[in-house]
Amino acid sequence: MPTDRSSERDSGAGGPRARAGRSQWLIAAIAIAAIAIPAFRGDLSAAIAVPAVAAVIAVAWYVGRRARSDGETGQAASTPAQTSQEPSTDLIAALPDPAVLLDRDGRVLAMNALASAMAPALRRGEPASLALRLPEVVEAIRRAALEGKAERVEFSERAPSERWFELYVNPLRNDAAANVPTRLLLTFRDLTPIRRVEEMRVDFVANASHELRTPLAALSGFIETLKGPARNDAAARERFLDIMEAQARRMARLIDDLLSLSRIELSAHVRPQTPVELLPLVRQVVDALQTLARDRGVTVTVDAPDQPLIVSGDRDELTRVFENLVENALKYGAAGKRAEIALSRAFTVTGVEEAVVAVRDYGPGIAADHLPRLTERFYRVDATASREQGGTGLGLALVKHIMNRHRGRLTIESRAGEGATFTVRLPLSPTARAEKIL
Ligand code: ADP
Repeated sequence: MPTDRSSERDSGAGGPRARAGRSQWLIAAIAIAAIAIPAFRGDLSAAIAVPAVAAVIAVAWYVGRRARSDGETGQAASTPAQTSQEPSTDLIAALPDPAVLLDRDGRVLAMNALASAMAPALRRGEPASLALRLPEVVEAIRRAALEGKAERVEFSERAPSERWFELYVNPLRNDAAANVPTRLLLTFRDLTPIRRVEEMRVDFVANASHELRTPLAALSGFIETLKGPARNDAAARERFLDIMEAQARRMARLIDDLLSLSRIELSAHVRPQTPVELLPLVRQVVDALQTLARDRGVTVTVDAPDQPLIVSGDRDELTRVFENLVENALKYGAAGKRAEIALSRAFTVTGVEEAVVAVRDYGPGIAADHLPRLTERFYRVDATASREQGGTGLGLALVKHIMNRHRGRLTIESRAGEGATFTVRLPLSPTARAEKIL
C-alpha cells in the first residue's frame, strides 16, 4: 500500500533514487572525460571517441531509466511485501485496540484486524466516512485534519446491542513543524464493559438503599407513634415492638447478605479446598429449618446414595447455598406441601465426576421469562411477596456466586403451576475420588 509518506520519501531531493541518479551521471561524466581528453590530444581517433561518448551517454541514460522504473514498478509490484514492512502498518497491527490510519483526505491507508471486526465496511483506499458514518465521528476526523489538533469523541451503537465507544483522532506529521497533518491515526476503545459495570453499581446502590430505606422508615414511624399517640397504649406498644423487631431483623439480614456477597466476590478467584461431605451438611440445614417447615405445613424429605459425596469447599458457604434453596422451597413452594432434596452423582460432558443436589418443591413454580434473571441481585418475581416472607432478593445471587467460586453450577427448572427444581452441581473432591478408587 503506497502511503503518502513513502512517495514523498522517494521523490524528495535527498531520496535514495535521486542519489542513485546523481551517481550514475557522475560516473558517465568521468568516462566521457577519459575518452575526450586522449581524443583532444590526438591519441584517440574521432571515429572511436564519438561513438564511445555516445555509448557512455546511452548506457548512463538506460541505467538511470532502469533505476527509476525499478523504483516505480518495484513499489507497485511489491506493495504487499512493502505493506508488511511499512512501520506504521506494523504498528497499527500491533495496537491492542481497533486502529485505523487515514491520509489527510480521510482515506484508509491501514487498519488492524480489530478495526475490521468493529467496522467491516472499512476498505483500504476508500474514505473512512463511508464505513464510520456517525456524524460525530466524521466531524471529529474532519476537524482533526483541518485544525491539526487531537480530537476525542464518545459515541454509541444501538444495534445489534447497545455498545459505547471512545474515539481518539491523532494527527500525525512528517515534519514536526508542519501545520497540516499528513495522516490521522484513529484509535477506538470499547467502553461497554466499563459502562455496564457503572450501571450495575448505580443500580446496586439504588436497590440496596431502597431495601434499607423501607424498614428504616417503618422503624422511624413506629418510634414516633410510640413517643406520641401510643405513649400510654400498652397493647399497641407490644404490637408495634413486634413489627419493629421484624423490621430490624430484616435490615440485619440485608446487611448480612450484602457483606456475604462482597466477601465472596473478593475471594472469587480462590477455590476453597476443605473436603466437605454433603449429606450431613444438607441434613443439618433441613433440621435447622424444621420450625419453618412445620409453620408452613411442608414435609421435607432427603434422598441420598450410600457412598459419601465429598467436595472441595467452604463449609459455611455451602451451608448458605442449601439454606437459601430449602428456605425458598418452604417460603415460595409451601402450597405444594412437600419439598424433596435428592443427592446423587453424575459425570459432566468432559468426564468430571460431580455431586448433584436437587431441591424440588411443588408450589406455584416460576414463569419461564423470569428464570434467566432470578440470580440477579434484588430480582424477585413478586417483590411484595418476597418482602412479606422476609426475603432480601439476594439469596439466589449469593448461591450463584458461591457456585462460581466452587467451580460449580446452579440450574433452575420450573413451569408456572408445576413447582420448581433448583439443582447445584459441584465437582467431587479429587482426594475423595482417589480414596474411592483405592
Ligand atoms: P428472596 O430473598 O426474595 O427469596 P432469592 O434470590 O432467594 O430472594 O429469590 C429470588 C426470587 O426468586 C424470589 O423473590 C422468588 O420470587 C423467586 N423464587 C425463588 N425460589 C422460588 C421457588 N422455589 N418457587 C417460586 N419462586 C421462587
